[in-house]
Amino acid sequence: MNTYGRFPLALAKGKGCWVKDTQGRRYLDAVAGIATCTLGHSDRAMHRALRRQLGRLQHVSNLYQIPEQEQLASWLVNHSCADSVFFCNSGAEANEAAIKLARKHGHQRRGIEQPVILTAAASFHGRTLAAVTATGQPKYHKGFEPMVTGFDYFPYNDLSALEALINRYEQAGPSIAAVLVEPLQGEGGVNPGDRAFFSRLREICTQRNILLILDEVQVGMGRSGRLWGYEQLGITPDAFTLAKGLGGGHAIGALLVNASADVFEPGDHASTFGGNPFACRAGLTVATEIERRGLLNNVTARGEQLRDGLQELVKCFPEHLETVRGWGLLQGIVIRESSSWKAPQLAQAAIDQGLLLVAAGPSVLRMVPPLTINQREIRELLRRLAATLSSLS
Ligand code: PLP
Repeated sequence: MNTYGRFPLALAKGKGCWVKDTQGRRYLDAVAGIATCTLGHSDRAMHRALRRQLGRLQHVSNLYQIPEQEQLASWLVNHSCADSVFFCNSGAEANEAAIKLARKHGHQRRGIEQPVILTAAASFHGRTLAAVTATGQPKYHKGFEPMVTGFDYFPYNDLSALEALINRYEQAGPSIAAVLVEPLQGEGGVNPGDRAFFSRLREICTQRNILLILDEVQVGMGRSGRLWGYEQLGITPDAFTLAKGLGGGHAIGALLVNASADVFEPGDHASTFGGNPFACRAGLTVATEIERRGLLNNVTARGEQLRDGLQELVKCFPEHLETVRGWGLLQGIVIRESSSWKAPQLAQAAIDQGLLLVAAGPSVLRMVPPLTINQREIRELLRRLAATLSSLS
């Protein structure tokens, strides 16, 4: 169906941070399936692990115990603030699970009849009906009304607006089940969360027994230089969602929850494909390789190199470029409002220079390469981006 505006480019092969199109042209891939191919393309460890898994067992129902799922859940629980995990297949599905958990928690633990979930303006939580309602961008709602009831929105990082909204809802008694928020808004413009905002949000949620749920779909699994975005903010959530980087290019999503918020019982939620042995093997391989190769240190070092280089580019094109924002290997270059440049147009021009980049809205150009990218490749990325910008100016 006609659901995507696509570039006229067909990718046929990949190795590490590089992809080749069907004509044999090579591109440096700073899109990585939009923050998904954690280990790059055709990674040897991934290839070996998945080949073995395919030879053993690919899929069984969640009617049975699944050792690979238990191993991945153990790794996630041992490396985060969470106590248990529900597996699904995508970010939107993980957020759907979180929304159901929040509503049940609101009914059971706070006695709320019509629970409300607060999310941020300019957020992105996925395209299923509840996830797109949670997404605080009217352009994604248009044409699909009526939206799901029980959602309201606050300006991101705006403490007084959020406090006023919570007070308004809770004046006559409990009515908010959860605040669902990204630690850094990815699609909404690479906008990092503010530590003071999140610290106060954590306090308010704890005081009122409102669940604080973080959408770590884009930031989680090491992209920020820490395993979880909440570590950058100095707080711990009651629950968080993952997808994208977790499977390194294979479909898997997850809802992770603390014991105190875990209100799900058998029969409450399910997924046929969720947590199948193949997807969990992919997740386990990503987890193991992040640790074995010390990828968090690489993300921090390469992220700084990228950021420094982007800041130099901002200085070279001051009439068009405003600033650089982001964490680790999730960096965005912000285009001035007064500029005639638009991010999708820059991404198109970069293709001609053999570089793949992705827009985050009209005015932010996003870079989310594999976490394995090396120093030379970052230099090459910056060289190709400089050539792109020169070609336009
Ligand atoms: N949440 C965030 C923060 C995302 O960035 C995305 C996708 O871009 C999603 C949710 C939706 O994930 P999916 O496309 O896997 O449903």
